[in-house]
Amino acid sequence: MLELASNLGQAPKAEDLSKSPLSIRGLTVSYGQKPAVFSVDMTVEAGKMTAIIGPNGAGKSTMLKAALGIVPPVSGQVQVFGRSLDEQRARIAYVPQRASVDWDFPTRVIDVVLMGLYRELGLMGRVRAKHRATAMDCLARVGMGDFADRQIGQLSGGQQQRVFLARSLAQGADLYLLDEPFAGVDAATEKAIISVLKSLREAGKTVVVVHHDLATVNDYFDNVFLINTRKVAEGPVAEAFTAETLQNAYGGRLATAQVDQLAKALA
Ligand code: ADP
Ligand code: MG
Repeated sequence: MLELASNLGQAPKAEDLSKSPLSIRGLTVSYGQKPAVFSVDMTVEAGKMTAIIGPNGAGKSTMLKAALGIVPPVSGQVQVFGRSLDEQRARIAYVPQRASVDWDFPTRVIDVVLMGLYRELGLMGRVRAKHRATAMDCLARVGMGDFADRQIGQLSGGQQQRVFLARSLAQGADLYLLDEPFAGVDAATEKAIISVLKSLREAGKTVVVVHHDLATVNDYFDNVFLINTRKVAEGPVAEAFTAETLQNAYGGRLATAQVDQLAKALA
C-alpha cells in the first residue's frame, strides 16, 4: 500500500516530463577518452524557443546530434514527446551547422527543399504538383521564392541557410533543432530566419537553437540552456541567463568586451 501511494505521488512529475518535446537524462557522450558531454539532463519546454549556449567545444552540437541519435551516447536516455526517438523521428527537423558542403554536384534549390518531403514521397515516389507547391511555399516563407531553379552552390551562405530552413519546414515537424543558424549570415537572412522561427512558435511548434550571439538572446529566446560539457543552467532567460551563469559557462573565456556588452544587455 505504501509503495502504491508513493508511486501515485510521483505520477504528475512523470506525466510532465513525457509531454516535453525533448527530454534528456544523464547523457554522456565521448568521442575519445574525454567526454564531450557529461551527465547532462535537459527538458525542453513545449511551444517555446530555447537557446543552447556555451563556449566553443562545450558540447552544444553534440547535444543536438545525440538527441537525433547521430552520435551514440556512452550512457543516458533521450525521449521525444514522451516516446523513443525511433518512434518520433519524423516529428523532428534538423538544420545542421552550415558545413563547408561541396556543392559541385549540381543540385537545384527546389530539389534541396523537396528532400524535406522524402518521408511522404518514399524512395521511388514521384514528385507531384502538390509536392512542388509545398516546396515553393516553404521557399517563399524564407524569402527565397525567386531562387527555386538556381543551383544551391551558387547561393551565398546566408541564402543556403534559408534553403535548409525551407527544407526543414517542408518536413512539417513539431520539434526544430537548428545548429548555429545565424553564424556568418547576412542581416537580411538573420531577420528572415528569426521571423520564421517565431511564426513556428506561434503555431505551437518547439524550437531549439544552438546560438552564439549572446547579445540577441533576450530578444530571440524564451529559455536558455547553458552548457560547458556539464549543464550550467536551464530555464527562462530572465532566470537562467545571468552574469553569474555566463561566468560559470565561459569562465575566463568570455572577453571583457563581451562582459561589458552583456552587462548592458542584462541591465
Ligand atoms: P560545440 O558545438 O559546443 O562547439 P561540439 O559538440 O562540436 O562543441 O564538440 C564538443 C567536443 O567534442 C569538442 O572538444 C570537440 O573537439 C569534440 N568533438 C566533436 N566532434 C568530434 C568528432 N567527430 N570526433 C572527435 N571529437 C569530436
Ligand atoms: Mg557546434
